[in-house]
Amino acid sequence: MFDLLKLACDKAAQAGCQFADARFLSIQKQRVVSRDHALSSCSDSEDRGFGVRVLCRGAWGFASSPTYTAAEIEKVVALALRIARASALAPRADGVKWAPEPALKLEYKSACRQDPFAVALEDKADLLIAANEVMLRNSAVMRAQGFLSFKRVQRWYANTEGAEMHSDVTSSESAIWAIAVGNGDFQERNWKAPATTQGFESYRKAEFLEQAERVADEAEQKLTAKLAPEGYFDIVTDSENLSLTIHESVGHATELDRVMGYEVSMAGSSFVSRDKMGEFRYGSDQVTLVADNTLENGLATQGFDDDGVPGQRWEIVRDGIFQTYSTGREFAHYIGEERSRGSCRADHWSSIPIVRIPNLFLMPGKAPLSPDELIADVRHGLYFEGMDSFSIDQWRLNFQFGGNAVWEIKNGRKAGMLKAALYQSRTPTFWNACDATCDASHWQAHGVTNCGKGDPMQIAQMTHGAAPTRFRNIRICRGRDS
Ligand SMILES: [Zn+2]
Repeated sequence: MFDLLKLACDKAAQAGCQFADARFLSIQKQRVVSRDHALSSCSDSEDRGFGVRVLCRGAWGFASSPTYTAAEIEKVVALALRIARASALAPRADGVKWAPEPALKLEYKSACRQDPFAVALEDKADLLIAANEVMLRNSAVMRAQGFLSFKRVQRWYANTEGAEMHSDVTSSESAIWAIAVGNGDFQERNWKAPATTQGFESYRKAEFLEQAERVADEAEQKLTAKLAPEGYFDIVTDSENLSLTIHESVGHATELDRVMGYEVSMAGSSFVSRDKMGEFRYGSDQVTLVADNTLENGLATQGFDDDGVPGQRWEIVRDGIFQTYSTGREFAHYIGEERSRGSCRADHWSSIPIVRIPNLFLMPGKAPLSPDELIADVRHGLYFEGMDSFSIDQWRLNFQFGGNAVWEIKNGRKAGMLKAALYQSRTPTFWNACDATCDASHWQAHGVTNCGKGDPMQIAQMTHGAAPTRFRNIRICRGRDS
């Protein structure tokens, strides 16, 4: 498989390129969807092709094709070179400074034990429909749905420096949800099996059935939930809810390409300017946020990125202080770093790599602390579970987040459910209001599989994680149900 990729690199080098790389991808996908008592759809796809990126006369060119032959390689390299030479007519003032990287030979395979593509469709249907049947037993539930989604990406990478890398990553994702109708209202409640780079072995029918019963019951409870109060309250978030807040207010905010003025078109700038490195108080002492593209079963754990840089672990925020960004080889020099953090990924063989959010998580608290103990220290507040609507500005500064289920906390205990609750804050205000997070035994990872960035848009996946966490005196407002 490497021969044609090396041919592409050789052709680019002969043409005088400063750097070139080539990737071949094989992408297999399957999605099975259930609705009430039956499957509503099942789709399978396979997609293969390659892309060649060249850095020539200080400018980039990229071209791609689904036809993987020597003759097509020559055509695609020639096109990439033409694009680079055209781009060089309007050079960037600061040029392209490409961070050095050793020419490694790497092989990476995710820890998938039961290949989901080899599991019979009947077994997948049985899992989803059995969960639907449990949800439909609740007379308030008018619709029960679910899906299983699988992806296998095999990737071969070579560059003019001599790197040869191969990865084989299978990822799995699933969710079920119930829609309850009554009391002049309808409400949805869901459960997401955390998306991981494991195979079908991560799905247990007993867990689906147990979660289905809870989801249906809580969908019914949402129908009679009272409207959330407005004002300033202490809040507690579960790990799934906080995962999205981490993603939007820390992950995107600390992508260095955004900070440097790239990706401005799609809510793409950031308030985290370079002068904040090592000094800015992003959060309280409780807040340490770690990026880790070697995280076991993490969706961004792929062995190496699409600049040919191995996966790494680093701190974005340590004890509340902002440390550094996510970078690729093109951007590391802007913050005086010699090497890339290895966080530059493309979502397809026809896409160019861009800086992407790594696996990123809030470290658990060091002292033993359970969710009940965390809630016990709240006199009147709100508990947010799961994800719902969210909004954040282009500086990644002002935001609001809802929850798929929200409970009132009264005198240290969870009380009745609330609806239409949103927490609204500014990124540093919110993270500085964090006064406790539960210990490692309550830490959970959650996958994000629909992170959009770039123009044309690319969809990336990564994992976030946290333990249940408390924030003091956060503004609560009402959303669409008010
Ligand atoms: Zn995103």
